[in-house]
Amino acid sequence: MNTKHYKPESLMMSHGYKPELSEGSIKPPIFMTSTFVFKTAEEGKAFFEVAYGIREKEAEENLGLIYSRINNPNLEILENRLSLWDNSDDSAIFESGMSAISTILLEFLNPGDLLLFSSPSYGGTDHFINNFLIKIGVEVVCFTAEDSKEQIIERINQTGKPEKLAQIFVETPANPTNALIDISVCKEVADHFSTEDKKVILAVDNTYMGPLWSSPMEHGADLVVYSATKYIGGHSDLIAGAVNGNTELMGRVKVLRTFLGNMANPHTCWLLLRSLETLKIRMEQQQRSAQEIAQFLPTHNAVEKVFYLGNLQAGTKEYEIYKKQYSGPGAMISFQVKGGEKEAFKFLNNLKVIKLAVSLGSTESLAQHPASMTHIGLSQEVRDKIGITDNLVRLSVGVENQEDLIREITEALDCI
Ligand SMILES: *Cc1c(COP(=O)(O)O)cnc(C)c1O
Repeated sequence: MNTKHYKPESLMMSHGYKPELSEGSIKPPIFMTSTFVFKTAEEGKAFFEVAYGIREKEAEENLGLIYSRINNPNLEILENRLSLWDNSDDSAIFESGMSAISTILLEFLNPGDLLLFSSPSYGGTDHFINNFLIKIGVEVVCFTAEDSKEQIIERINQTGKPEKLAQIFVETPANPTNALIDISVCKEVADHFSTEDKKVILAVDNTYMGPLWSSPMEHGADLVVYSATKYIGGHSDLIAGAVNGNTELMGRVKVLRTFLGNMANPHTCWLLLRSLETLKIRMEQQQRSAQEIAQFLPTHNAVEKVFYLGNLQAGTKEYEIYKKQYSGPGAMISFQVKGGEKEAFKFLNNLKVIKLAVSLGSTESLAQHPASMTHIGLSQEVRDKIGITDNLVRLSVGVENQEDLIREITEALDCI
């Protein structure tokens, strides 16, 4: 079957799985096994030669099943399906978003190398880079959505070792302010510092908008990273991560994953296969409700300011990036209530079906207070600079009835 003739959502129920190999079972069983029996010693030898890169795969040869840290049917079916969303050659699933992120940072950086990193980024990513990578001798240069290409290049040159730039790691939109980084500008920076024998790798954390509303590879990203805990999993019942990219880079990512041993387990993969079947309809419904909520919020007199991609003003630089990079405004809204922490807490404490919890992208709507929760680790100065004020609330819109959501938000705002 030529997968190119189908949209990804049509293939999420069947692609990469043969029922006849599993008693006709329409859904893949969970392959809870640590190891796989070889038919012959010769076959085992052939599988190992490919897995360890001792020889290239033959044209028609598949990597045989060896041991569940290297590969497993649930892992492979899931990887085949997830790569369709980014139209990538391959995909690798990890036990968490953080293990996906730390693995690609480790694989494509050596001690002494330079990493260009967008700020603000997810707290865990920031911590891994500014604590662990610094400790092993990686130098980090940060940039924000405000910086121009020339300013970024200038900052890299100022380190005195621009030839050491090895990787650019970007998260866009920024959490929780929805500030946008232009991926194609990052690609130009990567090209500027790439040489014939050293390509600067551009990795994009697409957790907030992917895989439905954003395809970073179309704008020049080499690797696309996800916390699959969020929209991809989508039911707040698992932790997982993913990386998509071309065959060559993914080969390296998978070899390091084999030796770090941070692949997702069969049960998590099976849950993610279930989740992918409804990925598109979930995300579309979440976006529809978010658009209505973001339109309603500014009309309530307890609301000061709303940050939502769908509310950007035409003609601004942000709007231009939004139009180029995203197919929709997504389902993440941040807004300031009038007042400070007390008023924000009053709102949060009066929500009912909307749950007071961190994380995002799930079927249930979630609300949290970035300044005292997800972003408490940042200094007051940094929080002020990037707009994480005490009156800011972040909302991840779920699949509940949108009128119910608006009524509940209205009632909680009325309590202020
Ligand atoms: C949640 C999240 C992560 C980390 O993923 P885990 O699955 O929690 O390890 C990384 N990046 C972004 C943008 C996230 O929201």
